[in-house]
Amino acid sequence: MRTEEPRPVRLEDYRPPDWRIGTAELDVALHPTATTVRTRLSISPNSAGAPAPLVLDGDELTLRSIRLDGKPLPPESFVATPDRLTIAQAPQRPFELEIETVLDPTNNTKLMGLYRAGATYCTQCEAEGFRRITYFLDRPDVMAVYTTRIEAEKQDAGVLLANGNLVACGDIAGTSRHFAVWHDPFPKPSYLFALVGGNLGCVKDSFTTMSRRDVTLVIYVEPGKEDRCAYAMDSLKRAMRWDEVTFGREYDLDIFMIVAVSAFNMGAMENKGLNVFNDKYVLASPTTATDGDYAGIEAVIAHEYFHNWTGDRITCRDWFQLCLKEGLTVFRDQEFTADQRSRAVERISDVRELRVSQFVEDAGPLAHPVRPTLYHEINNFYTATVYQKGAEVVRMIKTLLGAEFFRAGMDLYFTRHDGQAATVEEFVQCFADVSGRDMSQFMRWYSQAGTPEITATPQYDSAARSFRLDVTQIVPPTPGQPNKAPMVVPLALGLIGHNGDDMPLQLDGRPLPRGVIELTQPSQSFVFSNVPERPALSLNRGFSAPVKLVLPVEADELRFLAAHDRDPFNRWQAVQTLAMTLLKSNVAIARSGGAPRLDQGLMDAIDAILNDAALEPAFIALTLAPPSEADIAREIGSDVDPDAVYSARRKLRAAIGQRHGATLADIYERMTTPGAYRPDAQSAGRRALKNACLDLLAVTESAAGIARAFDQYRNADNMTDRMAALETLAAHDRPERTAAFADFYTSYAEDALVIDKWFALQAVIPEPTTLDRVRALTRHPAFSAANPNRIRALIGVFAQANHTQFNRSDGAGYDFVANFVLELDPKNPQVAARLMSAFRSWRALEARRRERAEATLRRVAAMPALSPDVHDIVARTLADS
Ligand SMILES: [Zn+2]
Repeated sequence: MRTEEPRPVRLEDYRPPDWRIGTAELDVALHPTATTVRTRLSISPNSAGAPAPLVLDGDELTLRSIRLDGKPLPPESFVATPDRLTIAQAPQRPFELEIETVLDPTNNTKLMGLYRAGATYCTQCEAEGFRRITYFLDRPDVMAVYTTRIEAEKQDAGVLLANGNLVACGDIAGTSRHFAVWHDPFPKPSYLFALVGGNLGCVKDSFTTMSRRDVTLVIYVEPGKEDRCAYAMDSLKRAMRWDEVTFGREYDLDIFMIVAVSAFNMGAMENKGLNVFNDKYVLASPTTATDGDYAGIEAVIAHEYFHNWTGDRITCRDWFQLCLKEGLTVFRDQEFTADQRSRAVERISDVRELRVSQFVEDAGPLAHPVRPTLYHEINNFYTATVYQKGAEVVRMIKTLLGAEFFRAGMDLYFTRHDGQAATVEEFVQCFADVSGRDMSQFMRWYSQAGTPEITATPQYDSAARSFRLDVTQIVPPTPGQPNKAPMVVPLALGLIGHNGDDMPLQLDGRPLPRGVIELTQPSQSFVFSNVPERPALSLNRGFSAPVKLVLPVEADELRFLAAHDRDPFNRWQAVQTLAMTLLKSNVAIARSGGAPRLDQGLMDAIDAILNDAALEPAFIALTLAPPSEADIAREIGSDVDPDAVYSARRKLRAAIGQRHGATLADIYERMTTPGAYRPDAQSAGRRALKNACLDLLAVTESAAGIARAFDQYRNADNMTDRMAALETLAAHDRPERTAAFADFYTSYAEDALVIDKWFALQAVIPEPTTLDRVRALTRHPAFSAANPNRIRALIGVFAQANHTQFNRSDGAGYDFVANFVLELDPKNPQVAARLMSAFRSWRALEARRRERAEATLRRVAAMPALSPDVHDIVARTLADS
């Protein structure tokens, strides 16, 4: 616990630091419970203003000694508390401060600062973990040059790593200890500091940069797991080349290191030259990792590497600018994956994820702008909005400006702000400068929360051969923002003739550049001329703007688009829209006890896609998945009954399985690829389609469907097929399920990452007995509340992905998760707060569940000694909007 009640931090209160830190020299003697850290800082006043006290941040620190310019500071001249070190009369000239602190890495269960993941010492400093290592100006606009000396017992930590290049290492004479000194020549904020010590295996490779410099690449893992790093290393090299080709960005140190650790709060961390990873995003072999895991590794390795320029070389001025590095870097990793795999499949997958996580966040009490203006706990702002909507905003800049101006703007950003801590304004200004375009209205994407709703009404005039589109936009109210101003919304569109071809677009007599219309007003009309026939309208192609579209389209036209749109995203979207319309109506029918409707039009659209030989299998697989339960609930908006949502969706899937059974069985056979497993996108796409068919054939409850799944489970030679079969079996309360779960555990008991999957699949079973099962699993010997991956697999999946059982109408799901959060909170508040955000859609539920959820939230809110992290989430979730 912090010793003071945290105050909100406001963007408007930003002012430059009073002090600068030029160099930071750390000397760290690793010890399991008493690590000493001696820090020597060169400090100088930032400007010739009024003399300011020197106030350094700390968090649960113990000060051992302090010296200024080599002399011990008299006790009356400073005040040291666990979370602050104040020197009231610091010299108003450059001076040197030496601070010695002592840390207990073994008992650092928050996994922030220096801690132990198993036997390995590692650090996590973003956002405010460095202050748990030493007193410091722990804010991103204080950039220093770091030199780090680490020493340890050779037997405890044979490998000693820190940021930068290795400048010295060796044994300490007369002892069983050794040391290493690392120097990072690039000034960086403290959140990018890292050190690692442990007995680790490694895999080495090298990369020659575009200016012919050789860079050593090393991935460190637990000994014995070296053979699972090949895909991560390959992904890294491809990412390095891609950033050179696509953005002209070259790597800058002599060595790039990745360390995989088993206990990590996040996915991975982009510390300069020394990325620390959740081992989930490094380790893969065909028999332990699924295609999804391989894709995740490729994306996360690339993401962290891309941060070297967007995050490390140019960092954020303050934490309000988090999207400056995250939104931009997510955009970059999405583009990388699109280039490496399939652009259409990547776009659809990204939008699906955006709708399930960010749109849901934006529609509830935790909604906030891409750049928030106030926070109580910055750890709670590593959100879908900052990351994913932040990426959409960058994508819109590219759509509005075109590829050439976009690249020119990025180039300008890299040259103008290299070595700086920048702001969103400075980033966007670069695009304004290269294109001459006024970007001031566009900035509202950073300041206004909520998903804009765009209503479009088309009208064709055959006499005038003109097509008119009336468009209105509304940004719904969100917490603290009752009234919104109109946004700049780029909508890519196509007008499609009866032969399936796009017509040339003429707006106001001129060709429409890039096929994009721009909304800037609450309502606008666009009139296209020379339109020879009534066209089918394909709007928001490629999901050019992250908006909700309301379009009065006939089912016939959607079927036509599903079959003919040359924009693959909108082909997929047309099927989704048909399914969503049907699902919403079937949810209402289910609640009144009626039988679900069928929609021949949807079935025909699916048929057309299944029989289109030109389509890639991964795309077809995506089209076979109806909107998710979270999507349907969000579309319904209020008075949501998760049981009715689940039942409508399951019945639709069963109907698809029934109606297309013969085709699906045929595709299942055709997509079965003989030969050894390969993780490439094409092979993964074939497996995705095969396994989508497997599931749809079983959801009908046919004995043959279940038998096929059990067969695949037993005979699979790779984890993708085995997991897919187990996932299918998990949805059916049959003896095969029990047998497969038991076999899976025995087969993989030694492999933590695989056992996470075993926990997760049981947590997501949509049956009333699941809560008891999950409760029992928390007492399973393989469960550990000290491991974030395990918590996320069991409790996180239950709370976030099992909509019917978390939202049980008796409220037992809420109480279970809340009790777990309360127990975890004192140990790991960050992970506890994440779990608590599962309540974010409670207001949209039907009355009974809403009452239970609110009672649980109020019970948590009333607990004394909540961490700031959990307190912040609960308070905002309960607040009246
Ligand atoms: Zn990132």
